[in-house]
Amino acid sequence: MKQHYSRFVKQMAAALAALLVVPTASGFPLGVSAADIPLEAKAVQPVNPVYVPQDQAQRSATLSQEMKSNTAAIEEELSKLPLSFAKRLEINRPTKALTTTYSQYFIMGTSNPSQPLTMDGQEVPRYGTKGAFGVLVKLGVGTNRFVFSQGGNSSTVEITRYQPSGQASPISKIVQSSIYPSVNDVTYAGEGKIEFQCTAPAGSRVTGSVAGIEVELTQSGTAQNGVPATYYAAVDVPSKYNVNEVTNLGKVSYNLWYNGQSSTYQSNANLYVAGENTTVRVKVNTYRANVLRDVNKSGWFLTTLNEGAVERIAQKDYWSDSGVPYFYLSCGGYIPKASVTILEGSPSISNQINGAALESSSSGETLRLSGTNSPSHRTSLTDNGLDITFFNTSLSANLPSFSDSRLVRSVTTTSEDRSVTFHINLRKSLWGYDIQYDGDDTLIFIKEPPRLSADSSQPLKGVVVVLDPGHGDIDPGALGVAGTNGATENVLNLAVATAAKMRLENMGATVYMTRSTVDGFLELDERMQFAEKYRPDFFLSVHHNSVGETVDANKTEGTEIYYHTTYSSNMAKNILSRVCENTGRKYRDAYPSYYRVTRITCAPAALVETGFVPNPAEYEKLCSISNIIKAGDGICEGILSSMPGSSSAGTTSVPTTSDSSSEEASSPKKIVISVPEIEKVEIEG
Ligand SMILES: [Zn+2]
Repeated sequence: MKQHYSRFVKQMAAALAALLVVPTASGFPLGVSAADIPLEAKAVQPVNPVYVPQDQAQRSATLSQEMKSNTAAIEEELSKLPLSFAKRLEINRPTKALTTTYSQYFIMGTSNPSQPLTMDGQEVPRYGTKGAFGVLVKLGVGTNRFVFSQGGNSSTVEITRYQPSGQASPISKIVQSSIYPSVNDVTYAGEGKIEFQCTAPAGSRVTGSVAGIEVELTQSGTAQNGVPATYYAAVDVPSKYNVNEVTNLGKVSYNLWYNGQSSTYQSNANLYVAGENTTVRVKVNTYRANVLRDVNKSGWFLTTLNEGAVERIAQKDYWSDSGVPYFYLSCGGYIPKASVTILEGSPSISNQINGAALESSSSGETLRLSGTNSPSHRTSLTDNGLDITFFNTSLSANLPSFSDSRLVRSVTTTSEDRSVTFHINLRKSLWGYDIQYDGDDTLIFIKEPPRLSADSSQPLKGVVVVLDPGHGDIDPGALGVAGTNGATENVLNLAVATAAKMRLENMGATVYMTRSTVDGFLELDERMQFAEKYRPDFFLSVHHNSVGETVDANKTEGTEIYYHTTYSSNMAKNILSRVCENTGRKYRDAYPSYYRVTRITCAPAALVETGFVPNPAEYEKLCSISNIIKAGDGICEGILSSMPGSSSAGTTSVPTTSDSSSEEASSPKKIVISVPEIEKVEIEG
């Protein structure tokens, strides 16, 4: 009963919250707040304490004149991008009359730098040189008008502030997102119930049906007719389903009668029934699924599972505080129900590794384990390599000899009930790894660290870099001071990545970009797949930062960088310090994070936020070709500094840690960095 109650309350809360009048700023071009600010702001929530090697001394690898010999070509390439903005009075945020609950608002625009600019007769301070401006205004309840004037031109900004009533608006239909099950779910014969739930107008009649079972739902509480109300019913699972397998009952249908009208609805997902004491198995249905140690602590990763991974569920119902439903897996972590498919029948998911071979390629070595069926797994980094545990798996094969291996010194295994752990001892410090499925085989890939070339003018010959300019095409990313009348984050990301790419190529590197045009676009999973396909020596996602509309962006500036695996921290810090030194921008910090693209494990990976596009003075510099080239050079110097064997590298020590997705082990060599006190980026007022 407790479980039912828990779902009932949490889903109801989530459904009602979605219906309440929420503070919102309307009238925005696509992507300002919805697409970007949550992404950029999310990672300032610190993840669990991360163990990293002792801070490496930050060196100052700088590029020689020879490496910089292609500046003219980079300038020409960048000149093709829409980096300029008009030097006349234009208000770019808000672009039209705005209605909001905010009590203050940062208005942004461009102007003629050689003429004074006023707002309501008061001069507007401009901190750059090209006329970009932003001003934080206070909003009274009601309609506020601000008149900007320059020369003979003027422009009026109208912002209406209202106070939310807290009352949900009436509805006349069932709310589709409230319909259970919204993600595939399972119930057990015996004690479990078949449940029906949705949000519908109070005062209506609602019925539900699935697999020939029909039931009338009951409204919870009393409310004025039409106000959103939760309807619920539960019936016993018919005894015919109490068999030792999982049965798919299909989608659940709902009928609504309200105001003399009837309408029908269907759940987005299927409901399954498992016999009492039957093991329910699930298969990961997304490219990479997060398995958490705590559903309410963002970033507390236990492991990441690949698409196709199969595992048993140990407990069926957990909700995060925000109402996201999870299964608890037998490997010891929580997976979102939306990330898995429930397997029908009673399929075997046990694996027996009956063959093991070591394969070599130019990018690294692969331990191929045969006889497996996409086992779930978990990785911990150790002092001298990594431990990988495969669940529901036993080992009956002899391991190959590693005497000829360039990377692996030895592998030992330990078996426990239903799991086997490979303890991989490396000859060199870990540069990257990944785990992939290939038919009946599971592949453990160990990345070969890159080597500096003896050719001093082309020190990165043979080195592969993947650069990922964030956003693109219909997703502009953050809008800057010039809005869509100037470079958006999409354009600036591409510009910095292009500058870095051309310079890296001039230094001998092979560079792949996830997109090379303003209208190119990839989903986050596709960006990860792209990186994993090329198995680069370095991966960097290039972004630009934003703050909420209620923040004085004149005061928010600088560069910051995010990484996930501890062996990425050295590269991240090197890039951050070199970008800041080259551009003169404020050094914010390198933060452990859980951005999707930083969770690539095959190489050191990071996401750089080059600067803040809503900051007028910083935006002017971010749009300047010479400054973009400096940022690109900073990235190149950071990569050069991070090469093993580089006089400026700090990476030759073995990473002493588990990545932040795994448990803190207890080596005395480990030091804890406390998560730094960081400037909180507010995303709304
Ligand atoms: Zn971005």
